[in-house]
Amino acid sequence: MKQVLCPTCGKRVAWDQDSPWRPFCSERCKLIDLGEWFGENRRLPVEETELAETEGWNGQGGEDQE
Ligand SMILES: [Zn+2]
Repeated sequence: MKQVLCPTCGKRVAWDQDSPWRPFCSERCKLIDLGEWFGENRRLPVEETELAETEGWNGQGGEDQE
């Protein structure tokens, strides 16, 4: 029987119809993995956008020299 390791907890999961959440061992591990993926994917662009805007405003301080 083919087995895979759960990406979240590393538990062995049988790759057959008895494992509906494969390659995860359970729905919980699947949701945890998806949650982390979405969490990082959302957080990074927001921070980069805020930084870019802040630097942009600071960069326009050059107008004071005119
Ligand atoms: Zn797991």
